[in-house]
Amino acid sequence: MTKIDTNYYFWFILAAVIGIFLIEVISNIFNLRALSPNLPKEFNGLINDETYRKSQNYTRISTRFSLIQSTFSLLILLVFWLAGGFHFLDQWIRNFELGSITSGLLLITALLAANYVLLLPFSLYDTFVIEEKFGFNKSTLSTFFFDQLKGLILGALIGLPLLAVLLYLFEHLQYAWLWGWMTVTLFSLALTYIAPTWIMPLFNKFTPLEDGELKQSIITIAQKCDFPLKEVMVMDGSKRSSKSNAFFTGFGNNKRIVLFDTLIDKHSTDELVGVLAHEIGHYQMRHLLQSMITGFITTGILFFALGLFLNNSSLFAAFGVKSTSVYLSLIFFSLLFQPFNTVLSVLSNIRSRQHEYQADAYAAEVTGTPGDLAQALKKLSKDNLSNLSPHPLYAFLHYSHPPVLKRIAALRK
Ligand code: ZN
Repeated sequence: MTKIDTNYYFWFILAAVIGIFLIEVISNIFNLRALSPNLPKEFNGLINDETYRKSQNYTRISTRFSLIQSTFSLLILLVFWLAGGFHFLDQWIRNFELGSITSGLLLITALLAANYVLLLPFSLYDTFVIEEKFGFNKSTLSTFFFDQLKGLILGALIGLPLLAVLLYLFEHLQYAWLWGWMTVTLFSLALTYIAPTWIMPLFNKFTPLEDGELKQSIITIAQKCDFPLKEVMVMDGSKRSSKSNAFFTGFGNNKRIVLFDTLIDKHSTDELVGVLAHEIGHYQMRHLLQSMITGFITTGILFFALGLFLNNSSLFAAFGVKSTSVYLSLIFFSLLFQPFNTVLSVLSNIRSRQHEYQADAYAAEVTGTPGDLAQALKKLSKDNLSNLSPHPLYAFLHYSHPPVLKRIAALRK
């Protein structure tokens, strides 16, 4: 029989997972309460009563759904943990006597696979019931199935070798945290580099934007901003959802701007130029580089801390496991580090919101017509049924972009 040691680690991790869950629940309840029946004046004439009610319903239904999903995930974790699941799984895998790296790959894959299977019904329900009900879903069951399949194969091809390397480093090398840090950093740099050419085309079709007024306006704004634009591509976002977006990819002088077909359909040329000027603003103010550097530093801290808690027998005892291993250290550490990760994600949202204001200001200045971007933002909010009055606590914790009314107010200045 397995025995869970209710030591400091046990109570800390238990308090952390429950505490994070409660913050999630409370912020969501506040957010639902903040839904106001009165349409903000800014949207008069653009959104009618029916659409406004629909957008509030969308917020309500997706909030409830995500709360059910978080509750389910928390319960599964607690039951598995307290019933000694980690101990049994480890014992079962040790029986095969596969060597520590293969055992580690097997155990972590088993945990991820179980998590995937348990959450798959949620994902199906979200796409084919909720998104469908509000008219967003455009993907068929077969698109969904192949997306999942491609995602899993890619995940295995990329994740398993990386995991094997990390397990090896932590078992055999001194200063493994340093090597692990470097490995993950190089790996993610390489991924960012190959993603636009090798990975993204597996999921979507990219076609060059046809010549015409829009393309000409985009080239003009790129030149005005000294943006090294190589190509403007259109992505078939409509294959899956009617929600829309724009972004740019590529390194150095090889920048490609990608517009969702759904974005082009619904916006005027001036509005699209406003959106692009905003994206160029991110580039000109080196926001991407700043995020990469921050990511690099936090990964370093993470690996250093992992090194400190590696094969810590008290931490293992809190999960009812007697014999320590590098692979279970990774799992237990990720639970131990959850509060830190939550704080990091809130901090990164704060920074991201500042970046959004800066990019908006850049766009306003360079186009000279802030009203176009404001109009585009309003239309995006309307078409994506965004919550126009999020609760400040909810927005503070979860929003990577400022609430749309605040962005518009800032643009008007
Ligand atoms: Zn932005």
